[in-house]
Amino acid sequence: YRNNSFTDKDAWMFSSQLNPEQRSHAIKSLSAEKFDVLVIGGGVTGVGAALDAASRGLKVALVEGSDLASGTSSRSSKLIHGGLRYLEQYDFRLVRESLHERELMVSSLAPHLVKPLAFLYPLHNKFFERTYVGAGLTLYDVLRGFQRTLPGHRHINQKNTAEIAPSLRPDLVKGAVKYFDAQVDDARHTMMIARTAARHGAVIASGVRVESLVREGKRVVGVKARDVESGKLITIKATTTVMCAGIWSDQLHKSFGLKAGYNVTMSKGVHIVLPKRAINSKEGVILKTSVSVLFLIPWADKWIVGTTDTPYTGDCAKPLAERSDVDYILNEANKILKPKLKAADIIGVYAGLRPLVANKTDSDTTQLSREHTVDLSAPGFVSIAGGKYTTYRVMGKDVIDLAVAKSSTKVPESVTDKLPIIGADGYFALMQQVDRIADANGLSADVITHLLNRYGSLISDLLELIDKYPQLAKPLAKDLPYLKAEIYYAASHEGARSVDDVISRRTRLAFEAPNSAIDLANDVATIIAPVLGWNLKQKKESVNEYIEIAENEIKSIQDVLASA
Ligand code: FAD
Repeated sequence: YRNNSFTDKDAWMFSSQLNPEQRSHAIKSLSAEKFDVLVIGGGVTGVGAALDAASRGLKVALVEGSDLASGTSSRSSKLIHGGLRYLEQYDFRLVRESLHERELMVSSLAPHLVKPLAFLYPLHNKFFERTYVGAGLTLYDVLRGFQRTLPGHRHINQKNTAEIAPSLRPDLVKGAVKYFDAQVDDARHTMMIARTAARHGAVIASGVRVESLVREGKRVVGVKARDVESGKLITIKATTTVMCAGIWSDQLHKSFGLKAGYNVTMSKGVHIVLPKRAINSKEGVILKTSVSVLFLIPWADKWIVGTTDTPYTGDCAKPLAERSDVDYILNEANKILKPKLKAADIIGVYAGLRPLVANKTDSDTTQLSREHTVDLSAPGFVSIAGGKYTTYRVMGKDVIDLAVAKSSTKVPESVTDKLPIIGADGYFALMQQVDRIADANGLSADVITHLLNRYGSLISDLLELIDKYPQLAKPLAKDLPYLKAEIYYAASHEGARSVDDVISRRTRLAFEAPNSAIDLANDVATIIAPVLGWNLKQKKESVNEYIEIAENEIKSIQDVLASA
């Protein structure tokens, strides 16, 4: 296969492609140009900030030390939600803000990626609990305001609950309340926001790790960053550096010699992935536990069940699930499920680290907010941490507002509430044309639906690729939804630079395929090698790197699986 090539420098201007040529172009720009805003960190907060700034007309660069979304932003529960939990804490402002963001994403910003999802809230007590939960969900509906794409909540009697979710123990469950939230493939959504930012002129480079700051007097005027692929040190000049480093915030502040107005503590959350047959329910389920809530979340033909919430102090880059985490999830779910979940059924496990912000009370540099915190710790250097995936857009806006607050020229207001993510345009209309597109391209309606729900209107890129190389229309493996074309496209358009990037984040094979997709690593490498210009040695190294990551994850929970 031959890669698309850009000969004209300006052709990058409106391109959303992230690939090897674009990356080398980006690396050159990083050292040659001066930026209004340099964003550190390619999690959802960083890409949201980069898009916010680029769409205000600013000259923006974003550097990510590893892969886009390789931190917390690929390891969440993947829910775009108001947060029922916060209602019990009377945090109505936060719930309202999150519900507003949910509405925007489902209806206009990213309908191809963010989908409504129904949940049952099972009731153990017919009267008091129904009244209490019903009142809470009425408030949840009211806080949405007048924009209402998702249906409101509904009471379900015991008989109907048993029909919808036969796996919920009928001796314990006396009925349910059904309500809606939304679901997203987090890593994919983060990458698509990065591509949208690139489309609006942002220079995006993954594999570029910031090591130190460049100062003129007290003012931060840029950073020194390492291109982890070539080993070269790059000096990047920027009027304002915006750090969106999540759980890495404390260590970066320390190494930069900066005192921030907050600290970030880490809390680990683990999810397990099970086959569809493990739980007989047509809808998702939310369970209250003694410490928090546990979600049973439908994920295509699987279930994601989690999460845990435990303090963590280990390696930021490699959180691993432990036996106690998996035991907790199984025990809590099994209090209400019949038949019980079995460790032997587990297909995959993943762990993530929440960046929890503890504000320092003695600081006046910090603008306090219940969920996320923005901070100006030196002239020319701002940061943001905390918050949740759902409110990424507001976080991006808030941190860029602070970054430009003292700008000598007037910077326009944020427009990201009116800026759809690439692929969103025409999505609803395309979904009505599935059969026609399937016929015209000789593919099944299921394949077209799958592609529309991952690429939206960018499906045309995939169809062109298949037209050019018909062998890419074949599935990567039996019983898995991904086509070979999607693996190729991950490297040619979506910035994947390794087997791990493709298996763990561009697709979710790492937790969807048996044996953590180790058996598919070589096939993936064979497809992306020509796009990335690999020789045999590089291909082998990337395969081995993935196998090592996957084996470490499997090892950490081996005793749970062995005890099954
Ligand atoms: P990250 O995604 O961690 O991004 C930080 C990035 O900075 C990383 O990619 C890292 O590589 C990069 N970086 C670090 N150091 C450097 C450097 N020196 N140079 C360059 N780059 C650097 N929220 C919801 O709304 N809904 C949910 O269902 C939900 N579930 C969750 C479940 C769990 C288990 C967890 C842990 C979190 C959940 N969240 C949820 C919260 C949400 O996932 C996070 O708030 C969000 O992903 C944080 O994104 P971030 O960009 O701030 O951090």
